[in-house]
Amino acid sequence: MAGAFPAPRVATYTDFIAGDGTAIDTGLALYFPAPASYTGEDVLELQGHGGPVVMQMLLRRCLELGARIANPGEFTLRAYLNDKLDLAQAEGVADIIDAASDAAARCALRSLKGEFSAAIDAIDRELLALRTYAEAILDFPEEDIDAADDHKIMLRLSRIDQRLADVLIKSSQGSILRSGLSVVLAGRPNVGKSSLMNRLAREDVAIVTPVPGTTRDAIRQTIQVGGMPINVIDTAGLRESSDEIETIGMRRTWDSIGRADVVLHVVDALAGTTAGDLEILARLPATLKRVTVCNKIDLAPESPKTAVADELTVRVSAKTGAGIDDLERLLQAIAGWHSTGEDVFLGRERHILALRSAKDSIAKAISQRGQPELMAEELRIAHARLGSIAGHVSADDLLGEIFSSFCIGK
Ligand code: GDP
Repeated sequence: MAGAFPAPRVATYTDFIAGDGTAIDTGLALYFPAPASYTGEDVLELQGHGGPVVMQMLLRRCLELGARIANPGEFTLRAYLNDKLDLAQAEGVADIIDAASDAAARCALRSLKGEFSAAIDAIDRELLALRTYAEAILDFPEEDIDAADDHKIMLRLSRIDQRLADVLIKSSQGSILRSGLSVVLAGRPNVGKSSLMNRLAREDVAIVTPVPGTTRDAIRQTIQVGGMPINVIDTAGLRESSDEIETIGMRRTWDSIGRADVVLHVVDALAGTTAGDLEILARLPATLKRVTVCNKIDLAPESPKTAVADELTVRVSAKTGAGIDDLERLLQAIAGWHSTGEDVFLGRERHILALRSAKDSIAKAISQRGQPELMAEELRIAHARLGSIAGHVSADDLLGEIFSSFCIGK
């Protein structure tokens, strides 16, 4: 359809020709012969001018010529199957696409480039060496393990344990970066809830993004506070309704509120907590951590009357910015966030579970000092768990689950 076959790795300007010989578009054809391509197979990339109609025509012509539409994540799956990427790197591709913040995107790119895999690999190598050593001891039981050997094994085990702990902390931080802290914003009208959100979002306010969902569900927003994503659920949108779709939207919002981490209850510093505020609080689940934000302290420098003494209280002015730092620090502390986002791994639940389980096995191995059979078995389990992160041992259903969450064309 581009006339002649383009030379490898050279952007060739060409006409794209329809079945009847007429040109559909002009653009670039790029040919990447195997194995030096993203998937490791022969790849031909065609770049047209864009626009849905022309793209549809180009696509239709490719299909006529025998191509088929890729499944979600299929290119990356093929790259994985052809050893171009390991599983953690492949997940990095999906994470770059889905990144909710600059920091998350940078983090995902580091995963794709293999930093996370390298950290896992380093532990993997140590574990393998230790397994080999431990199993050699098992194979020659007549040679007693002397105290020096035993000491060496214990040292190596504790080093592996330390490294696992380190990766686990970095991955857990990344998990916050991935999903964010879920914050419910509650308060009477005009206490300054929107002003507070804008103040917290600072220059990032331009990229405040409504979470996709139904159109009536747009009372959730993601903002970034010091690089940490915060999903804000605004209860202002909650009201009694007889509209069926709106009622479904409300129910969903209540569901999200049930799963949230913290409620920011904004009160007017002059008025303090009023009967209206107590009514709002009564509707929220008691399990939610509560923070009272006394706003407009520029109008009321004196301490206000807040409801319950043991609630966390922060005094701020959305107008002047006073106290906003305190609120940010408190939110970060609640999330357990103590990073600039530069040295974290965008850990997935799957990675964290595997790391925890590997760490548990190492702990068991340490406790089985002097029992080489049991220790070797725990080392084997730890090694297998760690291997599952890079996909050295992966079941088909795991692959299906990971790659089906990709968007089509990746
Ligand atoms: P919401 O209804 O709770 O979202 O409240 P808004 O954010 O819309 O604010 C209501 C009014 O209070 C607006 O006129 C804001 O300018 C004003 N306001 C918000 N925060 C402050 C503050 O810290 N100090 C003062 N003086 N006014 C504020």
